[in-house]
This record gives sequence, C-alpha cells and structure tokens, in this order.
Amino acid sequence: MEGGRGFIVEPERRVPVIAEADVLVVGGGAAGIAAAVAAARQGARTMLVERYGSLGGLATNGLIVLLLTLDDGRGRQVVAGLCQEMVDRLSARGACFAPPREEWGSPDPALVERYRRLGLVWGSGPHVVRYSAAYDPEEFRVEADGLVLEAGVDLRFHRWAVGVRREGQRITHVVFESKAGREAVACGVVVDATGDADVAVLAGEQVERELVHPWLWFRTANVVEDAAEASPQRLSYYRTVHPGGYLHPWGAAERIGRAIDATNPDDLTYAEVECRRLARAELDRLRAKVPGFERAWLAGFAATLGITESRRLVGIHQLSREEMDLPFDDVVAVTGHWTKYGAVYEIPWRSLLARETENLAVAGRCISVDHRVHHATKEIPACFATGEAAGTGAAMALERGVPLAGVAVSALQARLGAAGAWLPGRVLGR
Ligand SMILES: Cc1cc2nc3c(=O)[nH]c(=O)nc-3n(C[C@H](O)[C@H](O)[C@H](O)COP(=O)(O)OP(=O)(O)OC[C@H]3O[C@@H](n4cnc5c(N)ncnc54)[C@H](O)[C@@H]3O)c2cc1C
Repeated sequence: MEGGRGFIVEPERRVPVIAEADVLVVGGGAAGIAAAVAAARQGARTMLVERYGSLGGLATNGLIVLLLTLDDGRGRQVVAGLCQEMVDRLSARGACFAPPREEWGSPDPALVERYRRLGLVWGSGPHVVRYSAAYDPEEFRVEADGLVLEAGVDLRFHRWAVGVRREGQRITHVVFESKAGREAVACGVVVDATGDADVAVLAGEQVERELVHPWLWFRTANVVEDAAEASPQRLSYYRTVHPGGYLHPWGAAERIGRAIDATNPDDLTYAEVECRRLARAELDRLRAKVPGFERAWLAGFAATLGITESRRLVGIHQLSREEMDLPFDDVVAVTGHWTKYGAVYEIPWRSLLARETENLAVAGRCISVDHRVHHATKEIPACFATGEAAGTGAAMALERGVPLAGVAVSALQARLGAAGAWLPGRVLGR
C-alpha cells in the first residue's frame, strides 16, 4: 500500500476475543438484516455487527426509501421472504405505500401515474404497475431492530470490521475497532454484508472496483402538494408517506465534478462537502422557482452518500448480463429489474461464495456479478433475498459441518421456500 510519507510500525498487540458466534454477519444494511435474521431463525448463534448506530444502511441512512422491486414486471412477485415481512411490518404501522396485488401488472395509465409520483415506476414504457413500495426510513430503523432482536440475534453497533485472522482456508476471527479499542469475535461462518466487500478484501479475496458519481438524496417538508403535483418538474421529486413531505433523489454525473472511489476516505470527504453544497443550492432553486416549495424546509439530507457501487466480490461464479432469464440449478434468490419489464435474474449460490475462503459468504450489493447485473442485484429487495439465502446457507453449513460450497443446495432451497422466500420451480413450480 502507498505510504506517501513513509511508514510507521505499530507494536504487536494482544486483542481480546470478546465473543464467539456461529454466524457472524458484518454490516447491518438490508442484506445484513436478512442474513442475521435468517441464520438466527435456523438456530445458529448469530451476531450482527454494524459500524453505525442503526440498521438499514442505504435503505435508511442513505434515504433510499423505495423498494424497487419485488416483482418481475409482469405482475408476478419474485422477492418475498424477509423483504415481504418488512413490507408487512411497515404497512401495519401505516409507514409503507405499495400497490395492492390486484393492481400489479396493470397498464391503467391513471394507476401508473399515481405510483410514478411515489417513485415506484422507472425505465422506459410502455409501463405497468410494479410491485414496489415506498416507506418511512425512521419506522424501518425501529422495525429492523425488532426483526433482528426478536430472532435472537446478538446485535452490536458502533464497531467497524478492520481485520481478520485466517487459518488455512478459513476465517477464525474478525477484528473490530471501536471506542473500546480492538476486539476480536471468533466465528464459524462470516457473512460479508458491508456493501463494500470489506471482509472479503481483508481476507485477501479478489474484488472488482467501480468509480461512481455519488448521490445525496434529501427530503423536504411543508410543501404545498397541489401546487407541487401540478408542476412540470414533478418527476424530479416524489411524494412520501407523509403529507407535505417530498423525496429528492439528488445527484448524478452532471452535478458533481468527478467520479469517486467510495472506499477512499479523501474521495468521500470531497463528495460529502460538494454534494451538500450543491444539494442545498437545488433546494434554493426549488424554493425560488417551483410552485409549492416556497416555504419548504429541508427535512434532512441522507446521513450517508448514495453509493451505487464500490467493490464486488469475484466469487465462485460471476453472474453476467448474458445469464439474464437463465435458470440455475443452484438458484437461491431471484430478482426482477427495476427499469425493465419481464427481466429476471436467478442468483446462484456460487455467486455468494468466496473462492479462497471456505467459510465466507457475501450478500447484498457486493455479491459476485458483473457491472450490468449489479444494476438489478443491488436493489434493496434483491439485497434482502441474497441476505436471506446467505444467512440460511451459513447456518446449514455449520449444522452439517461442511464448507459453504458443500451445502446441499436442494436442501437450502427447501429451507428458503419453507421460510417464505420465493424460488422458481423448487418451491412453486417453474
Ligand atoms: C443513489 C442510489 C439510488 C438507489 N435507488 C434504489 C431504489 O430506488 N430502490 C432500491 O431498491 N434500491 C436502490 N438503490 C440500491 C440500494 O439502496 C442499495 O444497493 C442497498 O440498499 C444495499 O444494501 P446492502 O445491505 O447490500 O448494503 P448497505 O446498505 O450499503 O449496507 C452496508 C452496511 O454495512 C455497514 N458497514 C460497512 N462497512 C462496515 C465495516 N467495515 N464494519 C461494520 N459495518 C460496516 C454500513 O454502515 C451499512 O450499514 C439505490 C442506491 C443508490 C446509491
């Protein structure tokens, strides 16, 4: 690694082992929540470690409050399981808007327009109503805490994974840094749900990197809805679950000067400052120019930048664009495509597994896919689905005393199906 101004040598340290976990999930975004809950429900002693103080990752701290999408674009639900459970929990709190089942796949222009204004219709037409959902991120945080704790997960906030200890092909410990110093957790299987494949990199696995233009979504309040809805600019902002509140998916290439490496803290510092400055200028423009926003106030910037992509594992199988719509015998999760109708990816178990580390699985936006497939598999419902598969498979590997790659996939599929996940054929008949 580049030293710049040379190097220092740190003295050797003894790191206390503070706990043992059968399944250790690192990162508490959508994927990590699902992985931890799934593993714990399978009976594994599960720990979930998250560097911040709440769950959800981009789905809460990034203000990406749209589940795109749980369907295949033809009216058929293809993501269920824990993602559906979260939709149900949020709906019970009045904190989630989703089209009812009878409307999925409807080409009715009035319905399509209603859901487009909530940010639930994207891509080029002809459009139909998708099974997607808009939700409140604060309610998501609380429901996620409940989901995880009710499953018996040992939840640990405010710890950052910074190292691993390996023995042969296995990770024996993950090392975390916090205000308590360095601490190690002994583990049976690790699920890397950090979004950035941090654990995979620490374990020496190969990854692919992408530079991205960051986003900074923000919310406004006190907007006069009738005026805002009548404006020709109405599709640059979206209604939220709260009257008078709007979501602004601000960002993208034309606004910030350069793409960044989201694992480089100096790039992130530049992007944080620049995005906040420019996003506030956008707020000023809305107040000055767009009817309804005259007295709007900033209800909040996302607490973290919107990073679509950073590092992806190069796993046992790298799912490619050419494999869209192809069936896999070892499918463990399925996703539709938020901008395409009828496009479906079956995600094989091998795309969640590291090549060199037999007890490391990844879940969420850093799974082993190519850049174009990532466009679909990074979406929150897909992250729930891969998390659920990783957590279930991790628990089974330990139960049977086999490496992750040795898990009998038909048994894993049956467990996922029994738990409510949607899989083609194995569960519902192809
Ligand atoms: C601008 C933008 C728009 C998007 N739009 C949509 C959309 O409309 N609908 C949709 O469904 N999806 C959308 N997505 C995609 C989606 O939001 C994310 O890809 C998804 O939420 C990722 O979930 P994840 O759990 O894989 O990762 P993350 O949400 O990134 O979670 C990773 C978690 O790990 C923690 N962590 C990271 N490193 C460490 C470490 N070393 N130690 C401990 N903890 C760590 C983080 O704090 C975080 O909580 C969008 C993404 C972006 C950026």
